[in-house]
Amino acid sequence: MYSPFRHVGSIFYKKRPIHLTFFVTGRCNLRCSYCFYLSRDGKDNAPELSVDEIEGVSSSMKDLLWLAFSGGEVFLRDDIVEITRIFYERNRPSIILFSTNGLLTERIEDAVGSILRICRKSTIVVKLSIDGPEEVNDRIRGDGCFKKTIKTYERLRRFINEYPNFELGINTVFCRENQDRMDELIEYVGRLDDIKTHTVSLIRGSVFNGRLKDIDTERYLRTIERMESLLRGKRASIYRFRGSRLKAAQDILQRRIIYNTITRQRQLIPCYAGRLNIVLTETGDLYPCESFDMRLGNVREHDYDISKVLNTTGAKEIIKSIERDRCYCTHECYLMTNILFNPRMYPSLIREYLRL
Ligand code: SF4
Repeated sequence: MYSPFRHVGSIFYKKRPIHLTFFVTGRCNLRCSYCFYLSRDGKDNAPELSVDEIEGVSSSMKDLLWLAFSGGEVFLRDDIVEITRIFYERNRPSIILFSTNGLLTERIEDAVGSILRICRKSTIVVKLSIDGPEEVNDRIRGDGCFKKTIKTYERLRRFINEYPNFELGINTVFCRENQDRMDELIEYVGRLDDIKTHTVSLIRGSVFNGRLKDIDTERYLRTIERMESLLRGKRASIYRFRGSRLKAAQDILQRRIIYNTITRQRQLIPCYAGRLNIVLTETGDLYPCESFDMRLGNVREHDYDISKVLNTTGAKEIIKSIERDRCYCTHECYLMTNILFNPRMYPSLIREYLRL
């Protein structure tokens, strides 16, 4: 397996990105009103990066710890298997994550099967979106979505025994519309066999229906405390990969930092966006993170070379400004790197690890 421990050097030298989030497409078969990526729709008419262009980008990067495919609906790209193969062969990611609404059952099953056959040394994580009990989920995502996603879950389950590197999980966006039904949902997901993790992402970014962001922070706190106690009581499962207990400890810390960030409205730990994390859009724009207001450049204008973009004067200034201005957000993925690669977090991390 491509061990995550190859990246320990990044604890001390944060000189190159090891976490890439790639929005492979802006196209989607849903229009969820809390989607921050949808609000970018129509802002960029350039064509999606082709497989050849993506190969150029991948060749310009070294080994990755974490590669997250996002969108849009990632499985709407006909070439998602080929794109994954490119990164797998060149960047040897320890973890490759696919976030999907789970509606395209057959297409997803075919693609995930092929990806698992090719990418034996990476942990392959598929996260299906479920935002509440059936009627809540369908009110948010659209009629019939819940049943379709569950059908996809049933089909993907068969890969669990066959591929020890496969992890199947559920992701829920915590918003005003579902905040009262989280207990029910957590219980429901807990009863789904073979679901290894249930993540709850706090609604973020600029969204169509701003009202959904008007959440009750105490309800969020109750939800994360519930998840924490289920983990401690061994009533919630964790990933199967080596180091997954550490990841579970980090999840607990991360959710607490998110709660404290929203209540205190400030940055609580340094952010490594632009140094360890980068975000690539389907049209080649590069950002340090998903706030999408700090564009570093476009790979099409820099020979598809990520380092060339990062080394422009403008990009360097943006990355410096993140350290200097201490912006804050609640995005789970960035907090993951900010915790795991910050030695000051290790006493708390070890404490949580030992309590699991
Ligand atoms: S704190 Fe959040 S908004 Fe600021 S750079 Fe980091 S990830 Fe982006």
